[in-house]
Amino acid sequence: MSADRKTIRSSYGLLLAAVLVLCITVVAGCAFYWADAAANGPAAPGQALSNLPSAASAPDTAGYTFRTLSGEELHRGHLILVNAQVPYRFPETSRLVGVYEHKSGGYKVKDRNVQVDEEMMGPLDAMLRDFHEATGDGDVLALSGFRTYDYQKTLLANKVSQVGATEASKWVAPPGGSEHHTGYAMDLGILNRFGRLEDYTGEGVYSWINQNCYKYGFVVRYAEEKSSITGVSYEPWHFRYVGKPHAYLMTQQGMCMEEYIDYLKQFAFGETHLQIEDSDGVRYEIYYVKAETGTTQVPVPTDRPYTLSGNNTDGFIVTVEQ
Ligand SMILES: [Zn+2]
Repeated sequence: MSADRKTIRSSYGLLLAAVLVLCITVVAGCAFYWADAAANGPAAPGQALSNLPSAASAPDTAGYTFRTLSGEELHRGHLILVNAQVPYRFPETSRLVGVYEHKSGGYKVKDRNVQVDEEMMGPLDAMLRDFHEATGDGDVLALSGFRTYDYQKTLLANKVSQVGATEASKWVAPPGGSEHHTGYAMDLGILNRFGRLEDYTGEGVYSWINQNCYKYGFVVRYAEEKSSITGVSYEPWHFRYVGKPHAYLMTQQGMCMEEYIDYLKQFAFGETHLQIEDSDGVRYEIYYVKAETGTTQVPVPTDRPYTLSGNNTDGFIVTVEQ
C-alpha cells in the first residue's frame, strides 16, 4: 500500500467519524427535546394554551388519555344545568346521602329525609360548620335537599292553589325542572331558639354564608338581577353546588348558571383552555368537549387530578388541578 492511498483512507475514516458524531448529536438532541416536551405536557402550569394547534388541525393530545363516556353521563356531575327548559334526567342508581347522618355539628337538619349528592355533603357540612364557628349562630337549618318528581309536582300544585299559576311559576319549578332533583341544591331555613321556622334571607349574620359560599363550591343560584335569564325570582336561601373554581368564577364574573355553561363552550379542548387561579391560590385549567351522538371520547390528563361533569345539554367540562 502506497503512502498516498494510506492518507486517502485515513481521510475517509476521519470523514466517516465526523458524520457519525454529527448524526449522534442530532438524534440525541431530538430525543432530549421529545422527552422534555412529554414531561411538560402541552403547556406548563400557568402558561396560556394559545400556542396549541387551532381547531383546523388535530389537537395535541400529548399528556392526555381518552375516557369513553356514554350519553347518560352527559346528564351527570356538578355542572349540569337544570331549569324549566332543561329538565333533569333521573338516574337509575342513587348517589344520595342523608345530611342528618353525615353532619358534624353547628347547624340543624329538618329531618332524616333531607338528602344531597355524596359529592356535595362534605362541602355543605364544612360551610355550615365554619359559619357556626365564625359567628356562634347555630340556628341554620338544612331544609330541603333532594326532591323526587312527585314531591315537586305536589309542591307546585300547592303553590298554584295559593297564588295562581303565573305567580307560582316564578317560585316553584315544574316537576323535572327543579335543581333539587339533582341532589346538588340545598334550601336553608332558620329554626330559632323558640323552635319557630323563619325564612332564610341571607341578611345580617347570615350574609356570611351568601358571601363566603363560593369558597366551598356553592353559588346563590337565583340572584335578583338574573331573574330574567333564570326565570326564577330572587332566592337567597337556595344554594347550588358547582365545585370550587366554578363557584369562584361565576361569583367573580357575576354569571348565573345559564350564562356560565354557555361561556365555557368557547374553551374547547385543543383550542384556548380557560386558566384560572381561585381564591385559595390554586390554579385550574378548564376545557369543554362537545358530546357526540352515542359515546364521546373525552380527553383527560394522564398525570394531573381532574373532575369531569356533563352539562346536561351538549357537552362535558373537564376541570384540571394544576
Ligand atoms: Zn331551592
